[in-house]
Amino acid sequence: MSFEQLGLIEPVLKALKDEGYTNPTPIQQQSIPLILEKRDLLGCAQTGTGKTAAFAIPLLQLLQQEQQNAPRKGPRTIKALILTPTRELAIQIQESFAAYGKYLDLKHLVIFGGVSQHGQTEALRRGVDILVATPGRLLDLISQGHISLKDIKFFVLDEADRMLDMGFVHDVKRVITKLPENRQTLFFSATMPPEIQKLANAILHDPSKVEV
Ligand code: AMP
Repeated sequence: MSFEQLGLIEPVLKALKDEGYTNPTPIQQQSIPLILEKRDLLGCAQTGTGKTAAFAIPLLQLLQQEQQNAPRKGPRTIKALILTPTRELAIQIQESFAAYGKYLDLKHLVIFGGVSQHGQTEALRRGVDILVATPGRLLDLISQGHISLKDIKFFVLDEADRMLDMGFVHDVKRVITKLPENRQTLFFSATMPPEIQKLANAILHDPSKVEV
């Protein structure tokens, strides 16, 4: 199985080649076609399996195609939100979007707590297509009016079980109430305890299940 066989567009294939990726990992083989078909996804996968690329690559492609079909008239608005529990994961995810999307005209930003808001709010003002965030800082910037989620079409909840362990479930649920109903949701967790399963059931519509 090659990346070409997964139906990826040329600028994405070229970026993957630059990264030195030759073949998709099992979670990428399973997830990429389902995400490109606009299915909701419940992915049971650990870090190290290539799960970041499994969602980042098809989201970049869908966003690029949408931009081509309906060119943006006004400023960029946030269309994809990736929620992850830690600053380290958030940075890694943003770097992945930057690497795989380097030949596309899409802007990404990462926001997290523990640092000044100023650089983050300035970047938001300039316009962002893809936002990678930790829950606390995201909610702060929403409540201050720096972020609107009304144009979100794609929502990724990454490491859901760690969100629970770190006490972020209430924050995550608050974020979810602010998302448009009409969206594609991708839910990743290394383990599926009952509370995580319940959250998944509440936010996914007829999901495809992927396990590695
Ligand atoms: P992740 O599970 O998303 O944390 O990814 C683990 C590591 O695998 C990262 O360093 C990626 O750059 C790398 N990686 C992801 N997909 C591939 C692939 N198809 N081929 C080679 N390396 C990959």
